[in-house]
Amino acid sequence: MNPLSPAFIGELSALLGADGVRHSPAQKAVYASDAYTLEKSLPGVVALPRTTAEVSAILRLCHARGVPTVPRGAGTGLAGGSTTGSDAVLLCLSRMSEIVSIDLPNRRLRAQAGAINIALTKAVAADGYQFAPDPSSQGASTIGGNVANNAGGPHTLKYGVTVNHVLGLQIVLPDGEILELSADDCGYDLVGLVTGSEGTLAVVTEVTVKLVKTPEAVRTMLVVCRTVDDATTMISAIIASGILPAALEMIDRTILLAVEEAYKLGLPTDAEAVLLIEVDGAEAGLNRQAERITALCREHGAVRVEAATNALDRARLWTARKKSVGTLGRLAPSHATQDGVVPRTKLPQILREIAAIGARHKLRIANVFHAGDGNLHPVVLFDERDPEEVKRVLIAGGEILAACVNAGGALTGEHGIGIEKRDFLHLVFSPEDLDIMAKVRGAFNPDGLLNPGKLLPFGGNCCPHLRRPEAEALLNLTKTRAAAV
Ligand SMILES: Cc1cc2nc3c(=O)[nH]c(=O)nc-3n(C[C@H](O)[C@H](O)[C@H](O)COP(=O)(O)OP(=O)(O)OC[C@H]3O[C@@H](n4cnc5c(N)ncnc54)[C@H](O)[C@@H]3O)c2cc1C
Repeated sequence: MNPLSPAFIGELSALLGADGVRHSPAQKAVYASDAYTLEKSLPGVVALPRTTAEVSAILRLCHARGVPTVPRGAGTGLAGGSTTGSDAVLLCLSRMSEIVSIDLPNRRLRAQAGAINIALTKAVAADGYQFAPDPSSQGASTIGGNVANNAGGPHTLKYGVTVNHVLGLQIVLPDGEILELSADDCGYDLVGLVTGSEGTLAVVTEVTVKLVKTPEAVRTMLVVCRTVDDATTMISAIIASGILPAALEMIDRTILLAVEEAYKLGLPTDAEAVLLIEVDGAEAGLNRQAERITALCREHGAVRVEAATNALDRARLWTARKKSVGTLGRLAPSHATQDGVVPRTKLPQILREIAAIGARHKLRIANVFHAGDGNLHPVVLFDERDPEEVKRVLIAGGEILAACVNAGGALTGEHGIGIEKRDFLHLVFSPEDLDIMAKVRGAFNPDGLLNPGKLLPFGGNCCPHLRRPEAEALLNLTKTRAAAV
């Protein structure tokens, strides 16, 4: 059934009320893409439920009419995961933003899926607790989207990614059935399976998360580095020393200058790169850790190490990191943020390779990333109005991913596969591996109506453009080029 037909829109409006359905082109324009702007398409209609019962009713209706449905939180995804076509209903959970319950004695919080990440911590901060996963988009992205993409963040290095903090999920299957899943259930780990499934198995409607104590003390440092190579060598040295910082982030000069111009934070404009390093925990012994890190950085060529002197100063340093992506608009009309992972010891080599890829394709590439995890975010700067440049951006993106795989890494650290990377799964998985994943998806989503064409390089409305032989050729080409860098 056509989701634009007056009959279908009438049925949806009967379920949600007129203000729960958006179908004019102007209303739908804001949903044309997520933060991966290389794919844009207006959804057939946007549905905005307020309750799990309404989500279930929408899915039942879509299932009965054979209409594809795409879940969406805040649309901050960087892999095109919540992009839809005109044949689909975009099921946007942003109005389901309530904190449902707080259970401090058991350190648990339950929230609707559309609650903004930072709202979880705000709800318990006065009691000395926090929700640890803190994506840089935490002021906008939803807990449902964080679960769907298994989001990480600067503090993932010590605290882990979203799945390490999810205790339970309420989900709705594509046919409308509502299920409660608990991490304590015996048998298959369904909470673990749904977390990171990018909306291809079920719609998450409520999430129960673990709360952790706000650390007693924190030390935050900004390390000014003469070269990117120096910075990456310091990262390896810190981790090799056995210290586990809460966060270890790198920002390169291109982004540093843009942030400084925008926010006037007093950042060092003479640095080729800076490291933002944080240690936290009990007050006792924390100064010793900070001093050891400072000494290691100096040994490996740090120009200087600036320590935050108070909470305001710490906030200033974190603003530099958290606003990095937001300032990219000053550098170019468009940007594409990559998300490969490499073993930390390969950081110096991979950053040289990325620079070479940029030079070969005449593209500016800036870097801001979760360095302690080896989770890269090379940001390709371009103008999406230039089709020839867009082509080069896509080729460079593929080469960066292949270079990460060749370095022993992975295709994604936290942004997910979406549509951006689905055809690159052949770089790491055999056809047999992918077939098993398709069978898992089929068990939850047998008609393929939920988020079709995402995550896997086949099925739904997806047409793979990179097959196994081409993937192997790309890997071989990247290996040869890497040897020359
Ligand atoms: C400036 C910026 C900084 C970022 N920094 C980080 C970072 O540090 N770490 C990180 O991990 N990511 C980061 N991201 C990426 C993004 O914010 C995360 O992937 C986030 O988890 C997406 O949440 P969302 O609510 O915006 O989801 P959306 O973009 O709306 O959706 C993302 C995916 O989840 C699915 N989905 C959404 N809600 C549900 C639901 N309720 N049930 C089932 N499926 C659902 C969608 O179908 C889609 O596949 C950043 C993005 C930006 C723009």
